[in-house]
Amino acid sequence: MEKLNFLTAGIPTKASDYTNAFDVLDSIGLDGLEVEFVHGVRYSEKTREAILNRGNFLITHHGPYYINLNAKEQDKKEASIKRVLDTIRAAEDLGAYSITYHAAFYLGEDSSTVTKKLIDCHKEIIEIAEKENLKTWIRPETTGKKSQWGTLDEIIELSKNFKKVLPCIDFAHIHAREDGKFNTYNEFCHILEKLGNNLGETALNNFHGHVAGIEYGAKGEKKHLIFEESDFNYKDLLKAMKKFDIKGVLVCESPNIEIDTKILKDYYESL
Ligand SMILES: [Zn+2]
Repeated sequence: MEKLNFLTAGIPTKASDYTNAFDVLDSIGLDGLEVEFVHGVRYSEKTREAILNRGNFLITHHGPYYINLNAKEQDKKEASIKRVLDTIRAAEDLGAYSITYHAAFYLGEDSSTVTKKLIDCHKEIIEIAEKENLKTWIRPETTGKKSQWGTLDEIIELSKNFKKVLPCIDFAHIHAREDGKFNTYNEFCHILEKLGNNLGETALNNFHGHVAGIEYGAKGEKKHLIFEESDFNYKDLLKAMKKFDIKGVLVCESPNIEIDTKILKDYYESL
């Protein structure tokens, strides 16, 4: 990637569907959107056409919420693997840069046990993806609830095993699950430094991240907020991203979608 691009999570509120979503992004001056397959990887031919006719806009995919690659029941685990693969297949079909998903829950197991199981699971996913010649980036997301597998360290550990796997860094989730920490310039720099030190320049030059205002409590993430109503320090985050010369995509998941995405882009460009 040549620069940092700013994407909305889903179609902008001002758009009715994908047929005018990219026109709305164009009028605001944003760079693309994340296609939300949160309730399943399905799209109509009309949607497909509209997405394929997006011109230079970038897209990424968010996989279904009903994914738990650490499910105890074999059928649930298989269904989760299929949901990740279907998201990767959709990326190939629609030309998405990267896909992300919440990989698993601990379900009472410790971090390293789950990480080990997820490495095996991703081996299986990547073997199939390679057989099908699928090329997108595969990105487990840093998760916001303490019951979910997906700290930055865990995802880095997993990513080290695979060429096509990198973390999707959700800064709001990290802030929420770490009890309000990771909200200053130095802390954001620490995250980006760790990413680069462990996974190399590739990770900094092909970045995929999420950000939003967030409400959180003892168990971590509660819900997304707009920046104005939250304590999330997006300005320091963007200063850190500028310092590290991050290239790739930053997806904004605030409920007012395009407004906060535009705030991010304008502030970043003012630096
Ligand atoms: Zn997510």
